[in-house]
Formats: sequence, structure tokens, C-alpha cells
Amino acid sequence: MAPLVKRNLITGGAGFLGSHLVDRLMKADEEVICLDNYFTGRKENISHWIGHPRFELIRHDVTEPIKLEVDRIWHLACPASPVHYQFNPIKTAKTSFLGTYNMLGLARRVGARILLASTSEVYGDPEIHPQSEDYRGCVNTIGPRSCYDEGKRISETLCFDYQRMHATEIRVMRIFNTYGPRMLPDDGRVVSNFIVQALRGLPLTLYGDGSQTRSFCYVDDLIEGMISFMNSDCCGPFNIGNPEEFTIRELAELILLKINPRLSLIEQPLPADDPMQRRPVIDLARRELGWNPRVSLNQGLDDTIEWFRRALDIKNP
Ligand code: NAD
Ligand code: UDP
Repeated sequence: MAPLVKRNLITGGAGFLGSHLVDRLMKADEEVICLDNYFTGRKENISHWIGHPRFELIRHDVTEPIKLEVDRIWHLACPASPVHYQFNPIKTAKTSFLGTYNMLGLARRVGARILLASTSEVYGDPEIHPQSEDYRGCVNTIGPRSCYDEGKRISETLCFDYQRMHATEIRVMRIFNTYGPRMLPDDGRVVSNFIVQALRGLPLTLYGDGSQTRSFCYVDDLIEGMISFMNSDCCGPFNIGNPEEFTIRELAELILLKINPRLSLIEQPLPADDPMQRRPVIDLARRELGWNPRVSLNQGLDDTIEWFRRALDIKNP
């Protein structure tokens, strides 16, 4: 007998990561229900699947319960850029808590496996470096980033309590800074900001002196890790990210070199609670999932720049 087609629910499926996941699962001949409230997601990201018999699109807010019959829930719904999640921080906290609670309730009711898109932000502004999964973090409970950081921490807590109380099959994935095509040009995150500024011939806005670090993962690698994790027997939490670490100044200089070395950098104030360093330890994912990021920042930036050039209709010089 042919294996049954998996029925997947992807919350936040019209967003940056969610829409790449939709593409991968559709190309694997699975059924996909994409659920989104379009706060930061766009129909254009998934419009190429509308009308396909295995694809369904639902406008819904995860803070409200929903009844569906599915086998797997990929719970990504939540704004991810500081600009977006700080726009209405109370709503962000509600999305994290109520959204995850509702999706866990659904998973329990229908016996679905659920993957939570958690974040490196659960480590806050880390005192240890690099960050492995057993580090418990240094998070300000009352700052401007707390709605997101604490939101994801309670989401993780809910997952593990559902596992302990109801044997719900959970997968908790801590995603580190990921970039690639379909980021919003006005998203506020550093890779999209720098590329869009450089393509428009504007100076690049360096917050602080640019000595803070991040480790950037290309979207294709991240989605590969997400799928391997969902298919595994492990519940996590697992870090998924690229351990190559760069200062933000190095990132700016690399992007200038690729787009227009004549442009300048302007320093702007560092936002409150901005983590000073971030790099994942990915030994667990390597060992348990056999996963490894493959795309270098150099290669991933080239592809992302080309995508933005086309999306913004900016001609090659
Ligand atoms: P994104 O903003 O592009 O996608 C989030 C999606 O969720 C959007 O389509 C948005 O409209 C939708 N959404 C938000 N609130 C909702 C709600 N209440 N109900 C229904 N839909 C809602 O961001 P992304 O980068 O694709 O991030 C996806 C997930 O991955 C998020 O949960 C984020 O926290 C997590 N994550 C991302 C990164 C990253 O670097 N991209 C890093 C860590 C964690
Ligand atoms: N950043 C910057 N200029 C920008 C946008 C961001 O220097 O135009 C910095 C920001 O202060 C942070 C880093 O880049 O130190 C990554 O920011 P992003 O918002 O992409 O992700 P996060 O802080 O959530 O890791």
C-alpha cells in the first residue's frame, strides 16, 4: 500500500520561513494547510500554490482556537523582527502564549506531532559563548524585547508540559538568525536592512559600533534542519543555525563590497538589550539529525542580493 500523504498545518505559512517550508512540503507531494493572519506574511509568498488540490489557505489568528484534522503542525506564527514584534508587544506575548497553547490543544486533540519555531532569543544577552542547549539564558523580563523572548520561553514551557501531561509529540527548535529571499524589505532585520540600503545607494545603519556578533544561517539550510527534526525521534530543544560568527560591522563591509564599496556606514544608537554576541553550538543537531548547514554567508548573500535586486526592480550597475 502506498504511504498515506501527510496533512501538514503550517502556522505563519505566508511569512518568510513559513513560505519556504510550504514550498518544500508541496514539492514533496504532501498536503499543506497554510494558516496566517498576514501581520507580516504576504499572499505573494504562497500565491503560486493557490488552486493546487493539495494546498489550502486559511486566514486565521492563532490567538483564537481552530479545529482541523492534521498529522503535523509546524507552529511558526509570530512576528520575528524586533521592529514587528515591538509594534504591539502585548499582541506578541498573546500570540506566543495563546497561539502555542491553541496549537498544542489541537495537536493533543488530533494526535498530531507539533514543531515549535523557538529562538536563540531564549538565551537573551548570553553570558556564555557560544550557546549550547543546556544554557538557561540571561533574559530581561521587563525590557522591550521581553514580549518576544519571554513569549518564546513560555511557549517552550507549554510544549514540555504538554509532553509530560498528555504525551504530545513535540519538537522544540531554537532558530538562530536566518536570512534569504522573501524577507520583507522594511522588515528591520539587519541583513534585509543592509542589502536594501546598499541597493538604494543609502548609507548602512550600524547600531552601536558594530562590534556585536551574530551567526547567519541561509534559509534553505534552516528548512532542511526543520524537516529533519520533524522527521526524527527527538524532542529537543535543538539549536539550528550556522555557527560561522561575524560582527555586524563585518557583515556591513561584506555587503558594501558586494553592492557598492563607495557607500558609507553611519552609527546609530544600539537598541536596549541588544545581545552582544550570539553563536550556536549545533553538536546535538549534527549528531542526532545528521544535519549541517552548507551555504556560506558569501554564497547566501549573493543569492539574497539577487532576489532583492529583482524584488525592488533595481538594475545591475
Ligand atoms: P515572519 O514575520 O516572516 O513570519 C511570521 C508569520 O506569522 C507571518 O506570516 C505573520 O503574518 C504570521 N503571524 C504573526 N502573528 C500571527 C498570529 N497571531 N496568527 C496567525 N499568524 C500570525 O518571520 P519568520 O522569520 O518567517 O519567522 C517565523 C518563525 O520563526 C517565528 O515564530 C519566529 O519567531 C521564528 N524565528 C525566526 C528567526 C529568523 O531569523 N527568521 C529566528 C528565530 C526564530
Ligand atoms: N542592526 C544594525 N543595523 C540595522 C539593523 C540591525 O546594526 O539596520 C543590528 C542590531 O542592533 C543587532 C544585529 O544587527 O545587533 C541583528 O539585528 P536583527 O534585528 O537582524 O536581529 P536580532 O537582534 O533579533 O538578532
